[in-house]
Amino acid sequence: MWWRDQAFRLGAPAQAHLKVQGLSAGYGAFLVLRDLRLEARPGLTVIVGPNGAGKTTLLKALAGLIPRGGIVTLDGAELAARTHEIVRAGVALVAEGRQLFAQMSVTENLELGGWLLPKAQRAQRIEQAFALFPKLRERARQLAGTMSGGEQQMVAVARAMVSTPRLLMLDEPSLGLAPKMVDELLAAARRIADAGTTVLMVEQNVKKALAVADRGYVLERGVLVASGNAKLLARSTVVREAYLGAGASGSGRAAAAAPRG
Ligand code: ATP
Repeated sequence: MWWRDQAFRLGAPAQAHLKVQGLSAGYGAFLVLRDLRLEARPGLTVIVGPNGAGKTTLLKALAGLIPRGGIVTLDGAELAARTHEIVRAGVALVAEGRQLFAQMSVTENLELGGWLLPKAQRAQRIEQAFALFPKLRERARQLAGTMSGGEQQMVAVARAMVSTPRLLMLDEPSLGLAPKMVDELLAAARRIADAGTTVLMVEQNVKKALAVADRGYVLERGVLVASGNAKLLARSTVVREAYLGAGASGSGRAAAAAPRG
């Protein structure tokens, strides 16, 4: 597979292992997350849960965008609390809303992802991003703001990959996208993990996310209520009844409104 070859040729650093212990975070006096313990090991880890469970809050806390308590380590070294230090440690976040530069082309957006890299390396990373999303190569000159939602999400993920992260955090990459595009983005997350970047992904599409992930966590009202091997988790009672039940569409949002038990 080309991405394994690429990772091998470029001497990609060892895959990152994130460990979180006793994490708490919120907004002012409003504590959203309480005493979370989780890991993102090499591979693809997904966090699912209903609306308002705190999934985005968790990624923001890990990215240093809001204050947090607890201990977070990346390969055993404590991760700093400030965003620029977290970025320097090799952590990238693709936030909900994508935050692209709408008036800039696809290539220009990707260049910004690599502005810290030497020019030759940046060009090489952009080439790899195009290999990850061949559709973007065809649209290299198109203004990002004129692309479809799914294409923009691809640009956002590609831009994060240009920065050569060791840990890539994705916040609901499938949000608002057509089923085919959802499949493409989740498949890309899988390829990224297979190529050597540890991926921690928050998703509302429980069924599809657990199908591509290695491990999963279920977050409800700021507390982790289940975790484990993604395939086993998908078959567990807690996930099947709350998220994949009869009549549910397979999305956390639909399931959140469904009665439990
Ligand atoms: P969704 O799938 O709807 O994005 P989520 O699991 O990502 O849900 P969060 O966005 O993390 O949930 O929200 C968790 C809780 O924190 C919610 O009660 C939300 O209203 C609250 N919250 C989120 N952002 C803020 C903020 N900036 N200020 C105050 N409260 C916030």
